Amino acid sequence: MTARPAASGGPTAPLDLSLLPPALRAMDAAALAEQFGTPLFVYDEAEIRRRAQEYVTHFGTDAVAYAGKAFLCGAMVRLVADEGLHLDVATGGELYVALQAGFPASRIVMHGNNKSADELAAALDAGVGRIVVDSHDELDRLEAAATPRVAGGAPLPTVLVRVTPGVEAHTHEFIETGTEASKFGFTVSAGVALAAAIRVAASPVLDFAGLHCHIGSQIERLDAYGRAIEIVMELGAEIERATGQGIRELNLGGGLAARYVAGDPVVTVAEYAAALRAAVTSAAAARGIAEPRLMVEPGRSIVAATAVTLYRVGTVKEIPGIGTYVAVDGGMSDNPRPVLYGAGYEAYLPSRIGEPRPLRCSVVGKHCEQGDVIVTEAQLPEGVAPGDLLATPTTGAYGYSMASNYNKVPRPAVVFLGDSGARLVIRRETLEDLVRLDEG
Ligand code: PLP
Repeated sequence: MTARPAASGGPTAPLDLSLLPPALRAMDAAALAEQFGTPLFVYDEAEIRRRAQEYVTHFGTDAVAYAGKAFLCGAMVRLVADEGLHLDVATGGELYVALQAGFPASRIVMHGNNKSADELAAALDAGVGRIVVDSHDELDRLEAAATPRVAGGAPLPTVLVRVTPGVEAHTHEFIETGTEASKFGFTVSAGVALAAAIRVAASPVLDFAGLHCHIGSQIERLDAYGRAIEIVMELGAEIERATGQGIRELNLGGGLAARYVAGDPVVTVAEYAAALRAAVTSAAAARGIAEPRLMVEPGRSIVAATAVTLYRVGTVKEIPGIGTYVAVDGGMSDNPRPVLYGAGYEAYLPSRIGEPRPLRCSVVGKHCEQGDVIVTEAQLPEGVAPGDLLATPTTGAYGYSMASNYNKVPRPAVVFLGDSGARLVIRRETLEDLVRLDEG
């Protein structure tokens, strides 16, 4: 979080166009801003579909669940359904959005580290394909909800046990979820996860399918997955010895890194799939157990790089001897990641996309926080002025989905750009929306 604006200096190169998918490279930003206003999330729809299919190609059919927390709305749910993926939902709210948009319940994976009795009942009533259990308290609630339904003839819910293998994923600590200190899941050490799996396998109202493990997000080094797989497969072998039931399924969560700035490494889905598969195959062979069916739950690596946020510049403040702030009409309410994780982004002016960017500055929002920064160390063309459109690439994941109404700023609109132009998929919030929940 910056308390001071970035001062002059640094690279002057134009934006690296490989950060933009084709439709966003070619977009008419002025026309979009005119039609839909700013701030505006603009997605390249064909690119979302291409990335979804890339996952299916390398992991196979029925092996990929899109993690809805990255970005979810009716149009996105329908796109995920069209592309044949499964869908990971983490709350009753995400489940509701998925079902409202007609997503087949049998392809839904229900997550959450504190699912309520109501959320579990909704999942069971819908007939979700998999429930990933996180704690014994939740198992108590799940068994209580399943018992009357199973007695009434409903099928046993398919359950995965979420485990934390105790590996560090070399990412920001807030998005590192596989360590023993994580709030998620059952820790593998001291037999905690084994006991949970034995409980599920023995339950007359649950169908034990296997294990789930998500070690974290924005992971650039694949070796962390290899270490996690060794630990989880060893646990699978112990479960088989203890219960006579092998793990049919191993869900390794999401986490593959997205490329936010030009200097970020590119890790391909092909490399990721090959690394995961090789580690599972060798761990199974080494223990003489059957290879479980592999599933993954990518979020950011499908949607992050498929969108830009388009803002309008409102003020340019040069502080002599200190630096420059360029303030835009959004901020931490549409992209909290810089504030939450110190996440880095790039900025560019769509009308001057190929120009050098010698002006080093900080792009800030309009919220009442000095830490309300969108790009701490941005490079922009000289002469950026109020009224200019400014865009930030790679904002398709955890931007809109984490958006808030802080300072009563209405949430932006979202459009999907395709061959036939721009399609509004989430309308801009209005001032009336800001008071629609008020009572009394
Ligand atoms: N699966 C689970 C259980 C998660 O918690 C997350 C992210 O928090 C994901 C999948 C998606 O991760 P990513 O968007 O980094 O691919």
